[in-house]
Amino acid sequence: MIIASRVVALVALWSAASCATGDGTDPGSPLILIGIDGFRYDYLDSIPTPALHRLARDGVRAPLVPVFPTKTFPNFYTLVTGLYPDQHGIVANDMYDPAIEHPFRLDDRDAVEDPRWWGGEPIWNTAQRQGLLTATFFWPGSEAPIGGMRPTFWKKFDFRIPHDERVNQILAWLDLPRAARPTFVAMYFSLVDRVGHQFGPFSAQVDSAVTEVDRAIGLLLAGLDARGIDANVVVVSDHGFAARSPDRVIVLDDYVDLDAVEVIAWSPVAQIRPRPGQEESVYHALVGKHPHLAVYRKREIPERFHFRDHPRIQPIVAIADEGWAIASRKLYERRPEAFTGATHGYDHELQSMRAILLARGPAFRAGVVAAPFQNVHLYTLLAHLLGVTPAPNAGSRDSTAALLSMSGRSAAGAGLAR
Ligand SMILES: [Zn+2]
Repeated sequence: MIIASRVVALVALWSAASCATGDGTDPGSPLILIGIDGFRYDYLDSIPTPALHRLARDGVRAPLVPVFPTKTFPNFYTLVTGLYPDQHGIVANDMYDPAIEHPFRLDDRDAVEDPRWWGGEPIWNTAQRQGLLTATFFWPGSEAPIGGMRPTFWKKFDFRIPHDERVNQILAWLDLPRAARPTFVAMYFSLVDRVGHQFGPFSAQVDSAVTEVDRAIGLLLAGLDARGIDANVVVVSDHGFAARSPDRVIVLDDYVDLDAVEVIAWSPVAQIRPRPGQEESVYHALVGKHPHLAVYRKREIPERFHFRDHPRIQPIVAIADEGWAIASRKLYERRPEAFTGATHGYDHELQSMRAILLARGPAFRAGVVAAPFQNVHLYTLLAHLLGVTPAPNAGSRDSTAALLSMSGRSAAGAGLAR
């Protein structure tokens, strides 16, 4: 009874807060962005996912084309900035910058929280600069004071925090009184990626991981329903997966003396920093030598990769073909089992690297399957949904116009109501 009256009170609160605009858009609609790491586009059809299917039925779905390299941090940060990795600076999961004393590693808290690595303006900053409150329950970049600013509410990454606890926190944020309530809320799930690496995309373990994340999203949707919150909910992933094998390993020291180089990132995109004066000899030692390895001087990386103009991109970049790995002889011989399972990072145009977008809410059309689009366009869509002016970015509104309802097109979210 107490619970029921609380729900009624909350529904009343939301109704009072969201006066109709006449175009069907609720000016108080929060935007909830959910990131599922490593959710390949085809998982939606091959694994039972009732909550995600509900989103697809009530809203839109589209394959999302990642940016290169198809790694986690570069892509999740592109999704919230609308910039290519060579613009926002997160060019890999492992990085070296001549201007920063320590290298960047995902598990190095000092690096992850160091704003010097994070360029551009993430959507939570865009929203906050224009008067909105924001919250993140994990998102790459959200732990660093980028431009001196973090989300209003944010969490230190800890994959062990149970999914239900994350969902309950999101709902608790949305239960806050209007003046304290975030309009933009993001959450992130790492489980599907972790299991995908270990067992590969077509495994019972990935099926269970996907089912578990779907269950948590279902819990969130039920919580929104119980409160009468008509949120715009956007689910995205960062990349797909390709199976690999100990039979498909390119041993770098078969071609080049590892003492002549520093390998900043290894596989499947090797970023190679030759010792002074060794650049040309290292390049010629590698180029055209392995049939499944494309080798480029930085300035010659093909335009379509959008991967050239940043000091963190090393002088020589070697890209393995789908399903291949790059390793040292030492690692390969010591741990051949490290080359089983699956990975990502490959050419962003490969079908296997495709990610997903699902979205439903007052701004979106219903039951629409849209054409694939590049994830660099998501940021301007998020800004539009929030009713805020985006920072300069590489995306365009045209690419996502087909996803929006009539009211969603003219829309504007909470920002314009203030
Ligand atoms: Zn990932």
